Amino acid sequence: MIAAVFRGGGKLVAEEWPRPAIGEGEVLLRLLGCGLCGSDIAKIVDPTTSAPVVLGHEVVGEVVTLGAGVTDCAIGDRVVAAHHVPCGECHYCRRGSESMCRAFKASNLDPGGFAEYVRVPAANARHAMFRVPGHVSDEAASFVEPLACCLRSVRRARVEPGDTIVVVGLGSIGCLFGMLAAARKARVILVGKSGWRLERARKLGIGECLDTTQSDDTAAAQRELSGGRGADQVIITGGGTDALPWAVESLRDGGTVHYFAGGADTLPLRLETLYHRELTLTATYSSSPADLAEAFRLIVAGAIAVDRLVTHRVSLGGLHRGVDLVRRREALKVYVTP
Ligand SMILES: [Zn+2]
Ligand SMILES: [Zn+2]
Repeated sequence: MIAAVFRGGGKLVAEEWPRPAIGEGEVLLRLLGCGLCGSDIAKIVDPTTSAPVVLGHEVVGEVVTLGAGVTDCAIGDRVVAAHHVPCGECHYCRRGSESMCRAFKASNLDPGGFAEYVRVPAANARHAMFRVPGHVSDEAASFVEPLACCLRSVRRARVEPGDTIVVVGLGSIGCLFGMLAAARKARVILVGKSGWRLERARKLGIGECLDTTQSDDTAAAQRELSGGRGADQVIITGGGTDALPWAVESLRDGGTVHYFAGGADTLPLRLETLYHRELTLTATYSSSPADLAEAFRLIVAGAIAVDRLVTHRVSLGGLHRGVDLVRRREALKVYVTP
């Protein structure tokens, strides 16, 4: 079969890769499509990522082979399958830290979503695979995983109806947060640098969009937010720690800064500010099977029109072009098909 193989040094090549064989309880999918995630790009640009490897985890596929004992799906079903599943029984799992479960990262789709065929291990097939009903497009279904990660964040940051939420970063995740918060009846302010993505977010009409390169724009927002009460939550989806001083200034007393982004930076935040203003700093990593189930339910119900975020479609052979587009901030979601 063909897969888009990461060869190291930022290089992606469509080439032959062994088609996976399945065992008991497992499912083989023929890929219909896979979303390109910011975390895939982070791995592509990270010199320590081991290669060769097939990335991609926002998978929609058609069931083509069933392992012994699989009864909850049938050949020909369209499904979404998540890459990581927790054990469901350990100390972490029982306390709601499912994505910290030691089994979580060890579980994975084989070889990854950017391949013509994907093996879904038994635990993933049992706990993190969903049959897609006919009225939901492949592209919409591919958003179950990223939406689940955002759901985990808005729950952790306690976004409530009537809140004012500021989302920093205008990639597909920033827009997804905006759509999700708007669906929860929060007032949404998206902030990011001027350019293609800001224009696109404005066209999508997700919330108020502020240009951080226009000091008038951000100063006015700052005045409004801090002169009034301030935002209840600031969710930072990119840009490292640069946004933190601005975020803290824009936050109401008792508010929450949520990090949905990694990086090597150290947080520049005075303890005095955290303490006297009773701020909360939260972060989430990935999502749990319950988050995935809720995201799936929202997408099936049409509560969030996620597929509007797909701006580019590429084949496995064109994945490198999709990566370049996102790195140049000229795409929201890139959807990859065989
Ligand atoms: Zn993802
Ligand atoms: Zn566990």
